[in-house]
Amino acid sequence: MVLPGGTLGILGGGQLARMLALDARRMGYRTVVWSGTPTAEPTEGVSDVVIKKPFDDEAALAEFCAQVDVATVEFENIPLETLTAVEEKVGLYPSAQSIGVSQHRSREKIFLREHGIPCAPFAMVNSLEELEEAYNQVGPVGVLKTAAFGYDGKGQVKLTSVDQLAGAWTGVGEESSVLEGFVDFDCEISVIIARGADGEMMSYPAVENRHRHHILDLTIAPARVDEVVLADAKRIAENLAEALDYRGLLAVEFFVEKSGRVLVNEMAPRPHNSGHFSMNGSVTSQFEQQLRAVMGLPLGSPEILSQTVMLNLLGDMWQGESGTLNSEAILSTKGAKLHLYGKSNPNGRRKLGHVNLVGGEDALERAEKLKEKLLG
Ligand code: AMP
Repeated sequence: MVLPGGTLGILGGGQLARMLALDARRMGYRTVVWSGTPTAEPTEGVSDVVIKKPFDDEAALAEFCAQVDVATVEFENIPLETLTAVEEKVGLYPSAQSIGVSQHRSREKIFLREHGIPCAPFAMVNSLEELEEAYNQVGPVGVLKTAAFGYDGKGQVKLTSVDQLAGAWTGVGEESSVLEGFVDFDCEISVIIARGADGEMMSYPAVENRHRHHILDLTIAPARVDEVVLADAKRIAENLAEALDYRGLLAVEFFVEKSGRVLVNEMAPRPHNSGHFSMNGSVTSQFEQQLRAVMGLPLGSPEILSQTVMLNLLGDMWQGESGTLNSEAILSTKGAKLHLYGKSNPNGRRKLGHVNLVGGEDALERAEKLKEKLLG
């Protein structure tokens, strides 16, 4: 157990690292971020130390490990060699092995299948011929996804007929991919679960996620779904955490079919955008919970205090020639809590912040009205 006064190492320097570092500081911990990139704006001035060197830099590895008691990640796409080296030197939670499973879509799918966890039908694809075979298996509507490093709908092509196969194969750069059967889902939900040093588990109630241009737009907490769906999603998340012998925070995304059956879409070995509601809507934020699990502390209560809606602030909400956010509209909205990530370049669909709308039944209505104002 690492008590307050200790130091947490964080691999990655984006907004998830920023929000983790803020909670760590509140609780009396120091943090050292190793961003792996030349800039790490969200963590500047927030983390005690920021190492802006590539992940294959030996000196950076030594510098990082010398200063931390234990380490965690804020994103999964970190070279396995770096993860293993950190794990051996100072301890890494979740383990390099658990992170490794979710680095590769194909590895993740095989893991799910081997553990009897329901997911969309899929087949691996390494050539155009294999894509044709896979399409015959899982078609007529499928989604081709690159096996490595895809997120927020990047590296994905929807397929509805045989004549699209060649174009789609070029579209994913002829890279190793997975073809998934298209799920005609009723809604998308996610569960964030923490598993502590002693195997204790705490899961946040499932939340409902809506997307805009393949990027998370809104999260409604808790999800407005049947009790049976909530219980199934929770049980599957627990099974996954057990199967991985997991320690840390794990996010599991699901499709809910019209029949009420839940299928795992994907998982992330870290805090998740759909868990940001917990910063104002829950007794314990997902970042505090990650810190507790990684430091070996008792886990906190994941109880929801009131219905909360999280609205993502994407780059297109910075409007006009000067590119400004209508923050007055946010701050004059009832129950709105503003979170900005300290990114100076507000372009396109970048995630620049979020707003949590707390306190009651009309949170969704308030979020939708606010979104309209922000998009102008
Ligand atoms: P992903 O990056 O795999 O989570 O995909 C991003 C979004 O694309 C998901 O949240 C869904 O809205 C949609 N999507 C991905 N895969 C499928 C699928 N097999 N069936 C239906 N929709 C999908």
